[in-house]
Amino acid sequence: MAVIAYIGLGANLGEREAQIRAGLAALGRVPGVRVLDVSSLRETAPVGGPPQPPYLNGVARLETALSAPALLGVCQQLERDAGRVAGGPRNGPRPLDLDLLLYGDERIDTADLIVPHPRLHERPFVLEPLRELGVEPAALPRPARPLVVADPEEFAALNTGWLHGGCRTGLVPTMGALHEGHASLLRIARQTCDRVAATIFVNPLQFGPKEDFARYPRTLERDLALLAREGADAVFVPETSAMYPGGFVSRIAVGREAEGMEGAARPDHFSGVATVVAKLFALARPTHAFFGRKDAQQVAVLRRMTRDLGFPIGLVECPTVREADGLALSSRNVYLSPEDRRAAPMLYRALRAAHAAHAAGERRAEALLAVARGHLAQEPRARLEYLELRREGDLAPLAPGPVTFARLLVVARFAADGPHPVRLLDNLSLGAPLDA
Ligand code: AMP
Repeated sequence: MAVIAYIGLGANLGEREAQIRAGLAALGRVPGVRVLDVSSLRETAPVGGPPQPPYLNGVARLETALSAPALLGVCQQLERDAGRVAGGPRNGPRPLDLDLLLYGDERIDTADLIVPHPRLHERPFVLEPLRELGVEPAALPRPARPLVVADPEEFAALNTGWLHGGCRTGLVPTMGALHEGHASLLRIARQTCDRVAATIFVNPLQFGPKEDFARYPRTLERDLALLAREGADAVFVPETSAMYPGGFVSRIAVGREAEGMEGAARPDHFSGVATVVAKLFALARPTHAFFGRKDAQQVAVLRRMTRDLGFPIGLVECPTVREADGLALSSRNVYLSPEDRRAAPMLYRALRAAHAAHAAGERRAEALLAVARGHLAQEPRARLEYLELRREGDLAPLAPGPVTFARLLVVARFAADGPHPVRLLDNLSLGAPLDA
């Protein structure tokens, strides 16, 4: 059965246009290949590789009865016929380049061939001719696994390509050690956006000197498998030195939203979070960004930062994903001893008890807090750090008077006297359905 395929065309040595035209003519003579259409050819500056002359680039649409690997083999043979030598420098100059960009709607991911071409979205010299041929980037199949990008400039180029292609682009910032909570953010992002990038970066700026930066769980291989399963298009995994090169000093100052609760317990934490997220926003310029409600104060700080700095980005707050026993998923849950793990769902039980009291008509703040505190007091393994009722949304202190709609936030420490205490956070809206 015939398949429509798209081939990227390029040359930057010799008679560039003549070589491209000759390559296309040769392609058209291969049994089982018919060249249907060719975009205009444009001159483009080389990307990466050694210093070299500019390229001429375009895209051809084919109809082919060949399999994708066979078509790739044909392209490689034609490159060799045009005088391209194997084993030259990566991204080095070449008399003819024929890249298999798309093969029907197929997603191929083998050692020799990845389709759609993994760098397609980063390259205006591919996207523009593709659009000339009627292929809209937003309609392209997603890759079989996310493109892993470590270079900030490349990540920016990728996102710019998506944006220029008319895509809604989603950013899901994480510190890795991914779990089903992160997976749900990715699913929501995929429902909202045409392209989704996750980031994995354990951000040193948001850890205090005595905190767990060095021992924060790092599980990249598993994370990549989860991202592939959830259909992420790309994942940005920068080195610390790429995010904060020597001489980096600028920090986002945070204010009212960062006062109290986590802000009191972790003095520079939210400034560090806001700084890295602002940096990620500036690099990726996503249309939407996705954060978990589990870290409610973080969301309040980031909403403020986004508004104050004028990032045109929609922040989406996603519901908290829990274990069957109610414990909110967290990368730090792996630190819990088996006994503490059994005790930890007490946090959610305490919040639920206050929720139930509120649903039954209790509107006095002190009484609602007392219900939750009473539950927490039953669990000696948990040392309560704070329990607060705050205004829904910006988490400002509650005005006196009856509590109609508010957020109850709790943090407790486990293994509090040991060398590595584990702080667990949770929160729940009172006056809203339970999953909100
Ligand atoms: P982290 O990797 O801990 O920085 O978290 C990355 C994002 O995932 C943040 O926006 C978190 O709020 C979110 N997240 C963490 N745990 C959960 C969870 N249990 N349910 C939903 N989102 C979560």
